[in-house]
Amino acid sequence: MDAHHACGRRLRRRAHRPGGAGASGRHVAHAARLRHAAGAAKGEGKVEALAVDKDVFGDGSVIVLRTPGHTPGHQSLLVKLPQTGAVVITGDAAHFRENYDSDGVPAFNFDRAQTVASLERLKKIAANLKATVIIQHDARDIDKLPAFPAAAK
Ligand SMILES: [Zn+2]
Repeated sequence: MDAHHACGRRLRRRAHRPGGAGASGRHVAHAARLRHAAGAAKGEGKVEALAVDKDVFGDGSVIVLRTPGHTPGHQSLLVKLPQTGAVVITGDAAHFRENYDSDGVPAFNFDRAQTVASLERLKKIAANLKATVIIQHDARDIDKLPAFPAAAK
């Protein structure tokens, strides 16, 4: 991840709006990722640069999808769960469902064409696998998965 950028700042402001209860939940995940990235930047984690998708465990259960556009190295995640089925976690490939549905690209994204290609790729994968799509920045998607400490099965 890069030094995290305009979307984080804007969304944190949104999260602090009164009545934005749903927003704070989704930003826990985002903040955790940012902390993780900060730790990685300090050399505290094992970092593997990926130019292609990566089947993390070699069994297809967790696949890191290369979805450049928001940032040059942006990645999304495909998780296949025994009961829930396939889940696509978009990361910042789309910020809100409207972006996802219409290929709407925020002006601050690194590359517009790459973003659109990545969104189309995610949509094809999701359609093929009948996957649940989670857009983490969108509060409407939070309820698609159980709340911590429960886990999707
Ligand atoms: Zn972002």
